[in-house]
Formats: sequence, structure tokens, C-alpha cells
Amino acid sequence: MAVQQRRGSKTRKRLRRTHFKLNVTGLTTCPNCGTLIRAHHVCPECHHYAGKDVITKEEPKKGKAKK
Ligand SMILES: [Zn+2]
Repeated sequence: MAVQQRRGSKTRKRLRRTHFKLNVTGLTTCPNCGTLIRAHHVCPECHHYAGKDVITKEEPKKGKAKK
């Protein structure tokens, strides 16, 4: 079994851990307007999803046509 020869300094430990970083998961940029959005969600800024304007096109057609 390997045994360490001497204890590392606080500075060595801290220098090694400067590369440990938290990364933000589940965020992408909107292809239409470029803001940070959650992946697989409609963009809250421009209401686009999969290259289409999802919210503003569908709401007036379905609501008024049936009544
Ligand atoms: Zn957008």
C-alpha cells in the first residue's frame, strides 16, 4: 500500500482546488433571442420553442373558433 511521504501544505491543497467549480446544469441559450433559458422549456422572453412562436399563435385561434 502506498503511504504519503509528507503532508501537503494548505497552499498546495488550495491551489489544487481552484479547479473545482460548480457548473450550472439544465441551462441553454434561446436560439431565437439568445437569453439563458431552461432546457426543454418555452422561452419566457420571446415565447419560442423548437423554432416556433408557441404561445401567441395558438391562443387566439383555439379560443375564438369554437365559441
Ligand atoms: Zn427567446
